[in-house]
Amino acid sequence: MDFRNPSRRDILAGLGATAFTPFASRLAIAQSIPTNPDVAIIGSGPAGLSAARTLAAAGKTFVVLEADDRKGGRAHTDTTTFPGIPFDRGCAWIHSADRNPMLPVAKQHGFTLQQHHDSIDHVWYGREKFTDTQIKSVKRIQDEIVKANSRVAKVRDGAVSEIRPIRSKEEQATATLMGPMDMAVDFHNLSIRDYDEQAELEPNYLVKEGFGTVVAKFGESVPVSLETPVQKIKYSGQGVQLETAKGTVSAKYAIVTCSTGALQSGYIKWDPVLPEWKETAIQNIPMALLAKIPLLLDGERFGIKPFEDILLEMPGKQDIYFICHPFDFPMMIGFVGGDFAWNLSSQGREAAIDFATSALQRVFGEKTGKHIIKSDFTQWPRNPWVRGAYSAALPGQFAARAALKRPLADKVYFAGEAVAGEFTQTCGGAVLVGAEVANTIIKRL
Ligand SMILES: Cc1cc2nc3c(=O)[nH]c(=O)nc-3n(C[C@H](O)[C@H](O)[C@H](O)COP(=O)(O)OP(=O)(O)OC[C@H]3O[C@@H](n4cnc5c(N)ncnc54)[C@H](O)[C@@H]3O)c2cc1C
Repeated sequence: MDFRNPSRRDILAGLGATAFTPFASRLAIAQSIPTNPDVAIIGSGPAGLSAARTLAAAGKTFVVLEADDRKGGRAHTDTTTFPGIPFDRGCAWIHSADRNPMLPVAKQHGFTLQQHHDSIDHVWYGREKFTDTQIKSVKRIQDEIVKANSRVAKVRDGAVSEIRPIRSKEEQATATLMGPMDMAVDFHNLSIRDYDEQAELEPNYLVKEGFGTVVAKFGESVPVSLETPVQKIKYSGQGVQLETAKGTVSAKYAIVTCSTGALQSGYIKWDPVLPEWKETAIQNIPMALLAKIPLLLDGERFGIKPFEDILLEMPGKQDIYFICHPFDFPMMIGFVGGDFAWNLSSQGREAAIDFATSALQRVFGEKTGKHIIKSDFTQWPRNPWVRGAYSAALPGQFAARAALKRPLADKVYFAGEAVAGEFTQTCGGAVLVGAEVANTIIKRL
């Protein structure tokens, strides 16, 4: 099935599943891992949950092995750090919502949705505030870069930094929004073809209860064996065998949904060792980084309306974007991306919070700090099962995505955001490709 034109029927079959095979209840009762399912799924993020639902709807047996102590992967709404304010540590925007299977799920379960346009409301360059005309030129420059990039993508790959020199303040703001804040890499690390392949993100929706909560609802009935990291995958001979500390699972097929960061870490051993083309593909799609710095306020709004966003362009490419007071919550959520996000992540939580606070002080005055009553920093690079935010092909290496997706020995399949075609990097893409790969296996079973 072509990912870009998935059969609606196939997808809906997967998404509509609520009943599971008897195998599911056996798992719940025995509290041990069934050893001979049709399919073993590695990872319970959006892709793994979607694959499981699709298999269940087709009456196939499966086991989901999850390394972490919770379901959901990078779709995770934190409801404890800021009591009463659901905070998405990973995905928050339902992108490309007209084609995103998570929008109908959110609607069906009565979640509170708000459309959010991705045009920027306020930009400061240092202490200078952009005029409306400058803000309009940010949008115009973006359109120009997208078009120029698209023309080049037809003939070659490379880095988006080759497309156009970035000199003016408006060009710098545009490059920050398109690179670190959107793709989670700076232009010099952004592949021309990777960027060109990406679907339009609009329409975007935010979810008051959290996007992670929507994914949790979606995966509610999927049985998952938590704290069960897969240590070794054997794929010679008959079927596949997956070794874990809780035992070995033998299955006819496996679906690997781990991030490329988790695959690059080498935690999973392969028998036989991965062929060179697969190893190379994994290395050529490293994790990009977007990190969030949520700031809980005492009710101060700094003159910014709910859902408005601001970009602070700072010296040394230390730029930060904020979405302000979403759903009227007294919170500004800062985002840093690309090289600077890796740098800040290596410095740690306190440095990140100090940075976000001083960035706001620069434009709203010294007293800003007094209005911040609690803050945090997402540290996905420190999660050994993820190791970054989402995948970005190295410049010139866009073809690695197709190689990563290609199955091994016709029985180890790869799903997850890194192989989600035009929806790579997104939760919706992971859900779609999880269902697609499961449907491919169902046809073969
Ligand atoms: C800060 C941030 C912001 C984001 N913002 C958005 C957004 O606004 N909108 C959007 O659509 N997307 C966003 N994303 C991306 C989105 O969260 C991911 O694309 C999506 O979660 C990927 O799903 P997945 O199933 O491919 O991978 P994951 O969610 O990573 O799931 C893979 C699972 O595999 C498990 N695993 C790893 N190794 C092993 C092993 N050896 N054995 C067993 N299990 C293992 C992991 O623990 C994990 O649970 C964001 C991500 C981050 C981090």
